Amino acid sequence: MQKYKTVFLPLLIALLVTITLYTTIKWWGFLVIFPWIGFSISVGIFLRLKLKGKKRLIGRKIAILMILPCLLFFVPIVNNENFQLEGVVLIVLVGFFSKGFIHYAIAKIFGPLIWRRGFCGYGCWTAAVLDWLPVKNKHNNIPRSYRNLRFIMLFLSLSIPIYLIFVLSYNPWTDFVNKQELKWMFISNGLYYLIAIPLAFILSDKRAFCKYACPVSLVMTPASKIGLLKIKPNLDNDCIGCKACNNNCPMGVDVMSFMKQNKAISDTECILCSDCSIVCPTNKIR
Ligand code: SF4
Ligand code: SF4
Ligand code: SF4
Repeated sequence: MQKYKTVFLPLLIALLVTITLYTTIKWWGFLVIFPWIGFSISVGIFLRLKLKGKKRLIGRKIAILMILPCLLFFVPIVNNENFQLEGVVLIVLVGFFSKGFIHYAIAKIFGPLIWRRGFCGYGCWTAAVLDWLPVKNKHNNIPRSYRNLRFIMLFLSLSIPIYLIFVLSYNPWTDFVNKQELKWMFISNGLYYLIAIPLAFILSDKRAFCKYACPVSLVMTPASKIGLLKIKPNLDNDCIGCKACNNNCPMGVDVMSFMKQNKAISDTECILCSDCSIVCPTNKIR
């Protein structure tokens, strides 16, 4: 029973966040969103503790899949808002700090000061689909510098709203806010899937989009550099150099080098999924 104590922790934290946000912002949606997210992560942790061997990897995948309808459908539809990066930037540029902005602030700008890229491990609606693709991840030799391609995508994502407003004099208040937002949310999200899914098959890497194309990952990077939560080495156990951690890390982090040096994983690509910890035969990673 002792080992199940951590199961309720996410739910408990989520309830505290719910109370804080509901009493300050007074929007009923918070009563649904955070309890559901907390519950989903608790289910994931429970499965991880209950199942054996590599089957434990499924816990997080179920949690992120459970969270998908909440963030991809419930929140945008009840708010009639676009939560994709381009849509949020468009309305922030005209001074409208909507719930989409609150989402970005909590999940992707300031939240990573605590949970680093945890959103990518447990909350992202794009990755929730990618993680279930029937793709067998293979190690490719793509140099890490290719991940800088994401800057081009970020440039495009920021340029589109800037171009619309400052060059074409588009006024989001008349045609976009609460009118076309939802439509563009699903169009732009569909485009992300259209790039991400084929890329996973072409490169034999479920998270290829995260590594080489996703502009949102770069939004999280600055805070992730100094974020608190890190996967740590268990100083009592030794690394036997089996490379299981490196071979199973969905983000291609060189976990073994951190463990060999008894250092916490500070790589900003780490999404805190704990897959490396699950597959480590010596319980070196926690
Ligand atoms: S890198 Fe982008 S697509 Fe991948 S999980 Fe993070 S936000 Fe989602
Ligand atoms: S899985 Fe564990 S033992 Fe194997 S290389 Fe990684 S840290 Fe070392
Ligand atoms: S280093 Fe471990 S926790 Fe981080 S992304 Fe890789 S497998 Fe997941």
